[in-house]
Amino acid sequence: MPEELSNGQLRINELQAEVDRLNRRISELETDKNLPAAQRSDQTVEVTPIDQADITLRRLVQRIAMILQAEKIVIMFHDREIGELKGIPPAFGLDEVHLSTFRVRATHGISGKVYREGEALIYHDIEARPEAREESFGLLHVTNGVCVPLVIEKRDEENRVVEKSTIGVLHAFNKRHGEDFNEEDVRLLERMARNVGSIIANLQMYREVVEEKEELAQTFESLTSGLVLVSTEGRLSQINATARAVFQAPQDALGKHMHDVIKDAAVVDAIQKLIDGNDPGKVETYVVLGNSERIYESQFASVTGQDGKSIGVVAILADVTEIRSIDRMKSSFVAMASHELRTPLTAIKGFSSTLLEGLDDDIYGKDDQKEFLGIVVGECDRLRRLIDDLLNTSRIEAGESLSPNYGQVDVTDLIHKVAMVQKQATTKHTIKVEIENELPKLIVGDQDKLDQILTNLMNNAIKYAPNGGDVIIHARNEGKTLLLGVKDQGLGIPKDHLGKVFEKFHRVNNEDNRKIYGTGLGLFLVKHLVEQVHMGKIWCESEVGVGSDFMFRIPTDIDIEAAKQANQ
Ligand code: ADP
Repeated sequence: MPEELSNGQLRINELQAEVDRLNRRISELETDKNLPAAQRSDQTVEVTPIDQADITLRRLVQRIAMILQAEKIVIMFHDREIGELKGIPPAFGLDEVHLSTFRVRATHGISGKVYREGEALIYHDIEARPEAREESFGLLHVTNGVCVPLVIEKRDEENRVVEKSTIGVLHAFNKRHGEDFNEEDVRLLERMARNVGSIIANLQMYREVVEEKEELAQTFESLTSGLVLVSTEGRLSQINATARAVFQAPQDALGKHMHDVIKDAAVVDAIQKLIDGNDPGKVETYVVLGNSERIYESQFASVTGQDGKSIGVVAILADVTEIRSIDRMKSSFVAMASHELRTPLTAIKGFSSTLLEGLDDDIYGKDDQKEFLGIVVGECDRLRRLIDDLLNTSRIEAGESLSPNYGQVDVTDLIHKVAMVQKQATTKHTIKVEIENELPKLIVGDQDKLDQILTNLMNNAIKYAPNGGDVIIHARNEGKTLLLGVKDQGLGIPKDHLGKVFEKFHRVNNEDNRKIYGTGLGLFLVKHLVEQVHMGKIWCESEVGVGSDFMFRIPTDIDIEAAKQANQ
C-alpha cells in the first residue's frame, strides 16, 4: 500500500515489534477465561488476568507515551449514567488533580466528537479547534494532539465482528521535540487503543461483578432474619450477622465445617439430614441476645444449581419470640378464662340449688336466703364484668371506641365513693385516700369510665397484695392536669414486666402470681380508657416485694370535640 511504503515504514516496523512484544506479554498474562474476551484485534489480544490488569494498563499507557513520543496520555471513559466522558487512571504526564479536570459531556469537545463519530482526530494547533475550548486542555498547555476512540469489538468464531461499541476515547498530547503527530501515530494509537479498551472493559466488568457481590453480601449481612448457606460437603459458604449471633459462630466461619462453627447440634443434624436427602423438619434455637431471651426457628431448603444438581443447603432463621409468647399467652388465657367463667357458675349453681332444695321444707330462714341470693347476684356481676372485658377487648381490637359519654365529673366525690366500695371487699387491707391539694370541683370526663379505671386498679392492688397492707388512692391537682394513682404494698412487678403489664393477656407468671387468677385484660382496658378516652397517660412504678404504684395523668379540661373525634 502506498502509505506503508513511505519513509515512515522503518519506524512503523520497529514500533510494531514493540506492540507485538506488549501483546505477547498480555497474552502471557491471560489466564482468566471465564471473563469473555471483550475484544480480539487482528493481533491476538486476549483477557488480562484481573489482578494484574491495573499494572498492565499502566505499563501500556507508559509505552504509548514512549512510542508516540507524547508528553501526556489520558484515557477518558464514558459514564453512561451521567452521559459524560471522564478522565480515569492511569494517565501519563499529569497528576490526579489535573486528571480530575478531564470531564466533558459526551456531546462536547474534541473528546465528545471522537466518541460520537468513532473517528480518530489529529490536530496540530489547538487554537484552531474551537471544540477544544469546551475541555480543560488549556490547563495542561496542550498545543497539539491526537485522539482516538476506545472501541470494543466482539467477534464470532470466524473472527467476524458481531458487536462493536465505543467505551471512551484515548488522548495523546504534545508531541515531544516540537514535532507534530502524524497519520502513522494515529494508526499506532488506534491499535494500542484496542488493547487499552479490552483491559478497561474487563476491569469494568470485573468491578461491576465485585460490586454486585459486595452489595449482595451487604444485603445478606444486614438481614434481620438469619441466613446460612452450607455446601454439600458441610462447609459454610455464607453466614450473616444474625445467624452468627444465634449460632455463636465466629466472624471467620466461612469455609469451615459446620460441626466446628454452628453451636446447635439440632441445626447441624437437620442440615446433614437434608444433604442426605431426608426431611430435616424445623428446629428452634433458644439464645440470649443482649439481655433478652429469643427464640429462632430455622427452616431448611436445598439449593440447586442451573444443572438441577444440589449445591448445598440454605437455612433461614426467623425470630419467633413474639409469636411463641402470644401463643403461650393465648393458651394461658383460655385456661384463665375457663376458670374465671367456671368459678362464678359453680357458686351460682351451688347456692341456687341449695335454695331450691330448701324451698319445700323451709330449711333456710330469710337471712340465709338473703345471703345466698346476695352471693348469686355478686357472682352474676363478676360474670358480667368478665364478659364485658372480653367484649370491650374485641371492640378495641376491631378499632371501635368504647363509646365515651363525656360530662362534668366531681373527682373528689368519685375517689371517696370507689374507696368506700372497696372497703366492703376486704378486711385484710387498709384503704386510704390521700389528696395532696385541693382538686378542681369538676373536671371534664366520662364518670363511669373513670370509676372503672380506679375500681380496676383498686381490685388489682387488693388482689396482688395477698398479705394485706395499705391500699392508697392518691390524687394531686397539677393545674391543667390531674395526677391520680393507686398504691399498694403487695407483690410488686419485676422490672422486665413493667411496660408489658398493659398489653392484653400479659400476666406475670411467677410462683406468687400463679396462684392469683385473672385474664390479663384489666390493665389493657384501663390503658385504653386513660389514653384513648381521657387523652391521658398511664404508667407504673413498682418494686418486687415492696409494692406497686399505678399512676395516670389526665387533662382536667378535655377538648370534648377532639376527644370524640379520636374515639369515633
Ligand atoms: P389480671 O389481673 O386479670 O391478670 P391485669 O391486666 O389487670 O390482668 O394485670 C396484668 C398483670 O399485671 C397481672 O397478671 C399481674 O401480674 C400484674 N399486676 C397488675 N396489677 C398489679 C399490682 N397492683 N401488683 C402486682 N402486680 C400487678
